[in-house]
Formats: sequence, C-alpha cells, structure tokens
Amino acid sequence: MTEDVADIIQPLSILAEDEQLFRASVREFAEAQIRPLVREMDEQAKIPRALIDKLFDLGVMGIEIPEAFGGAAGRFFHSVLAVEEISRVDPSIGVLVDVQNTLAINALLRFGNDDIKRRWLPRLAAGTVGAYALSEAGSGSDAFALTSKARDDGDAYVLNGRKLWITNGNEADLFIIFATVNPEAGYKGITAFLVERGAAGFTIGKKEDKLGIRASSTCELILDECRVPKSHVLGEVGKGYKTAIETLNEGRIGIGAQMIGLARGALDHAIAYTKERKQFGKAVAEFQGVQFQLARAAAELEAARLTVYNAARLRDAGRPFLTEAAICKILSSEVAERVASLAVNLFGGNGFVKEYPVEKLYRDAKIGQIYEGTSNLQLQTIARQILS
Ligand SMILES: Cc1cc2nc3c(=O)[nH]c(=O)nc-3n(C[C@H](O)[C@H](O)[C@H](O)COP(=O)(O)OP(=O)(O)OC[C@H]3O[C@@H](n4cnc5c(N)ncnc54)[C@H](O)[C@@H]3O)c2cc1C
Repeated sequence: MTEDVADIIQPLSILAEDEQLFRASVREFAEAQIRPLVREMDEQAKIPRALIDKLFDLGVMGIEIPEAFGGAAGRFFHSVLAVEEISRVDPSIGVLVDVQNTLAINALLRFGNDDIKRRWLPRLAAGTVGAYALSEAGSGSDAFALTSKARDDGDAYVLNGRKLWITNGNEADLFIIFATVNPEAGYKGITAFLVERGAAGFTIGKKEDKLGIRASSTCELILDECRVPKSHVLGEVGKGYKTAIETLNEGRIGIGAQMIGLARGALDHAIAYTKERKQFGKAVAEFQGVQFQLARAAAELEAARLTVYNAARLRDAGRPFLTEAAICKILSSEVAERVASLAVNLFGGNGFVKEYPVEKLYRDAKIGQIYEGTSNLQLQTIARQILS
C-alpha cells in the first residue's frame, strides 16, 4: 500500500489525536472521581450534585455546544467516547451524560431558533442538566400515542398531562416535553416545549425504584395547567414528531456507547479477578475453558464497539445512519448483558454479592434492551430496511 492510501483510509478503531486525548481525560476522571462513589450512589439511588458539577467542569456536559455559548465544540463522536468511558465505570453516570448531550443539547442545537440557543445553550454548558420527556403511561413504543395536551391560550400554551420514566427528572432544570396541540391530528399535533423546573403547574412526581442504573433518577412529570410561553416552543408547532424521531435516532447510538462501556467494565473486572483468583493450584485465568470465555467476550465486544463507532462516524459525516444506529443498539445491549453475566459467573460466589462490582453491572445491563426503543423496535427498523 502506498503512503497516500494509508493517509486516506481511516480504520474505525483508530482515534484522531484529539479523540485519544479526550478519551484519556474522561477515563482518568471516571477512575478518580466516579469509581470511589459507585457503590454508595447505587445504594442511595442518588448522584451527588458535587459530582455533576465536576462533570460540567470536565466539559462533558456540553460536548457539542459551540464555544461561543461556552461549550466544548466537539463532535457527536466525542459524546460517544465520553458515554463509553464513563459507563465503563458507572452506567448511571453514563446515561446522565448521554441524555444531556445526545438528546437535550442535540435537540436544541438542531431545532432551536437563535433566541432559544442564546438563552439555554450557555446554561446547559455551565450547570443546567437537561431531560427529555416523551414517554407516558399509555405510550412507550407507540410514542406518538401520547395524550399530554397543549392548549393555545394567547401568548402561551397551557400544558396538561403526565410523563413517565423521565431520566434526570431529579437533577434537571430544563425539560423538553412533548405534548399535542391537536389530538385529532394524530402525530401531526405533537409539539416540543421547553419547560423549566419551578414553572407554575409543573411538578416532579414519583421516582422509580429500579433494578439497575439505580443512581440515575427516573421520574414522573406532572403538568397541571402549566403555562408555557410560545417562545418556548422548540422547533415548529405540529413538528415535534420530527424532533423526537431525529433526536432518538441519534440518542440510541449513545445507548450503544453506554452498553459497550458497561461490557468493557465487566470484562476488565473479569480479567483482573480471574488472574488473581486461584483454584486447583493456579490462577483461574490459566484454565483454557476460562480463557476461551474471556476471548469470546472480547471478540463480541470489539464487534459491538465497531457498530457503535460506525454509526457515530456516519452521523458526524452527515450520512444516513438509521439502520446502523438500530444495529449498534441491539448488538451492544445484548453483548453487555452476556459479558456482565459472564463476569458474574467468573467471580463465582463473589459475583453474586454487592461487595464486588459485577452484580451491579449485570443489573445495569438490562436497561439497554428497553429504553430509547426496545430491542423489538430496533429489529423492526432493521427489518423495514432489509425488506424494502
Ligand atoms: C430507566 C428508564 C429510563 C427511561 N428514560 C426515559 C426518558 O428519559 N424519556 C422518555 O421519554 N422515556 C424514557 N423511558 C421510557 C422508555 O423509552 C420506554 O420504557 C420504552 O420505550 C418502552 O416502552 P414501554 O415501557 O411502554 O413498553 P411497551 O411499549 O409497552 O412494550 C412492551 C413490550 O412489547 C414489545 N412491543 C411493543 N410494540 C411492539 C411491536 N410493534 N412489535 C413487537 N414488539 C412490540 C416491546 O418490545 C416490549 O417488549 C425510560 C424507561 C426506563 C425504564
């Protein structure tokens, strides 16, 4: 191969220099600042505000926000790297960072007008956590069956309804809330609104008690005659379905990143433990049966990571990535569950107790197959493409 060709071809797994530096700084932060808190956060089902402030200081809470608004002016791929590295240590913090960047900020960058960008992007870069509220009790996979209503009332819309399962509900100060201005119009009535914590008629309801990612808050939101100025409409009235579809298509690459990070964390723990633990007079990792299990996990993880990086690179290149995003999410979440399960097995009894880290990762892995479109919905997207 000539030198020229080597310059043109960019292997997926080779990171640019800025990406390598960024990943190293996030990994260092995750080890030093997040690792010591993981168990306590899981037990208390809470993320300390001091840690969130440190995430803002690190620059991972406003990755794609332009410098003019105080952000890091990074690419989507940087968000993927941040979510992956953080989730390697704690997938709960991974999803906080993921929702902030790939859903909340992404939606404002893509659909916000100049006024909205000027008002909120500097805050989102500097300390305001965002949340993204689409789901309701009756509308999950069938997201556009939502029933929260927005009534036109002069210079404002008046919102009524309930949202369920909203990540960052406890920490967020800015909520992107989807409601319909016209239930008869079906999905064409759906509109996205920006609602601030503390707005009259807007309260945070019950917080879910979950199997995994316990430190990440998942809350109900209650809208009771909540007046939202018309200047807080994100994108066009009646085009909220477009905002939701487009941001979620990108968001699920972030969940892929969360899952490959989780799998990497579980594999690292399993490798370290089996090299240390002795049975039959030697380290457990010296048994070929164990080596093959670890090797298979590493192979599956590499394959899943490449699908995530490919989807993210396609997105940054402005190329279509819908099917690739669905593929990366389903593969990564299944690999995460398998690798975390293997880690539990290889820790033996210690895999089953909270004193060791892998039972938590096993619990955390399950969510990857549920949120931002269940596995069946990803399969539906892939099937549509291959059968069209
Ligand atoms: C921890 C957590 C955090 C979340 N965070 C957010 C958030 O921040 N914002 C937000 O808006 N939502 C959030 N969600 C909601 C999440 O996106 C939904 O739970 C998810 O989309 C599934 O919807 P559902 O729970 O109503 O399940 P359902 O849609 O009722 O699905 C039940 C089962 O039916 C299957 N199914 C449904 N339709 C079909 C079909 N057509 N073909 C085949 N199978 C089908 C599903 O795959 C699933 O297995 C969160 C959920 C959880 C648990």
